[in-house]
Amino acid sequence: MKILFAASEIFPYAKSGGLGDVAQALPNSLSKELDIVCVMPLYRFIDRSFFKKNKLSFSLKIGENTYEINLFTSEYKGVLTYFVDSPLFNQNEDFYGNNSGSYSNNNPKFGVFCATIVELAKLLNIDIVHLNDWHTALAALWIKERATHIKTVFTIHNLAYQGIFEKEILKQLGIDDKYFTMQGLEFYDKVSFIKAGIAFSDFVTTVSPQYAEEILTERYGCGLHSFLNYHSKKLLGILNGIDYDLFDPKTDKAIPSKFDLNNIDLKNINKKVLLEELKLGLDDKPTFVMISRLVEQKGFELLIDSLEEILRHKLYLIILADESDINYKYKLESIAKKYDNFSLRFGYDENLSHRIYAGADFLLMPSLFEPCGLNQMIAMRYGTIPIVHGVGGLLDTVYEDKERCGMGIVFKEQTKESLLDALQRALSLYLDKNKMHNMIRFNMKCDFSFDKSALLYKKLYSRLLT
Ligand code: ADP
Repeated sequence: MKILFAASEIFPYAKSGGLGDVAQALPNSLSKELDIVCVMPLYRFIDRSFFKKNKLSFSLKIGENTYEINLFTSEYKGVLTYFVDSPLFNQNEDFYGNNSGSYSNNNPKFGVFCATIVELAKLLNIDIVHLNDWHTALAALWIKERATHIKTVFTIHNLAYQGIFEKEILKQLGIDDKYFTMQGLEFYDKVSFIKAGIAFSDFVTTVSPQYAEEILTERYGCGLHSFLNYHSKKLLGILNGIDYDLFDPKTDKAIPSKFDLNNIDLKNINKKVLLEELKLGLDDKPTFVMISRLVEQKGFELLIDSLEEILRHKLYLIILADESDINYKYKLESIAKKYDNFSLRFGYDENLSHRIYAGADFLLMPSLFEPCGLNQMIAMRYGTIPIVHGVGGLLDTVYEDKERCGMGIVFKEQTKESLLDALQRALSLYLDKNKMHNMIRFNMKCDFSFDKSALLYKKLYSRLLT
């Protein structure tokens, strides 16, 4: 069985969020038992020193245009990745857009990426193509048209991002008008890439069992709940995991003091160094952190609304966020000026994120919705207690009333009262050193690695080939 795993971002080459982590960790786990290679775009910002020489070249005729494609390869932890080099990917600074919105060339850019995935799958004699999110979704349609011997799995990492374009792109991509229907790609008179992935793949998965149920409802279905209900027989939720070698406090080169279950006390050194680095002071106060994209999904409306009340408590708060939303950025900055127990860092910083996971006491995740969430799993691996809004994958991974993997603080309503109440429970827990220590130990023994979930994907692939 030969698998091609396609994603728009793969760590360590490119990562803007959890998709990048998963697109590394899942193939890595699968590669222990299966023949698997990956494919992703060669963005302008990717460090070219990763590459061996050009592997493959071909021209792709898409609609009325011809695109010259070069493919490079690189290997990381034993998994080979193909990089799609086209002048289109060289045009932009970032992945999908900037804080003024999505890039205007996302189509044809990701359309070309999808066509390349199909061509590569044919050239490599692939049995199963595993597609991820809208950037890869059109490949499912083209495989159904041109390479029917190949099976496809499509994973929805976040239904809120769908790849919606004007209907004129159909001609540009050489896609027949017959697909412009409610059962096909049409979405409110526009073209939806993600619908192609859902309609034409042999199987659709999403990244937690709870989210698989939620997206069938109007509240979380992002306008696609009826469509997903229609396809629900081929929909399955498989919980994400993390790479336990990359996120390991025992060996992590990014953290000042390595620790494990035998010497958890050394975690305190990480807290001390972090508080010094961020100039927060060294009082014995609980340290709350958030590491996130700066988007509504992650609960920034609620957080900003509750922030001053949070900061009036005896605690430290650290937020590391990218700069996706300039309004949230300004609001957070104006509050940060008033409180010296609040440190705000903008940008994407992998090493700092590890130091924060290792040095924190509590991780805040007040998400409005959360397909799976990796932050809480990483936090628990580093002995940091998650405080989460009970939604999506957070409900599959964090429990307050049961002794199950993992343990944390869960608030039911995404409201200020519930959040502040959860904060109070965290402050009380911090004072009960024994209870907190036991919880940290319990979580550090949990297994959130990808290996368990990889087995489920393997079973699914086998089923498709029988
Ligand atoms: P999402 O994919 O919705 O952004 P996840 O919880 O699935 O959220 O994954 C987020 C991943 O991105 C985690 O590895 C987290 O540590 C990382 N991350 C998020 N924001 C930042 C940031 N500003 N700097 C560094 N890492 C970040």
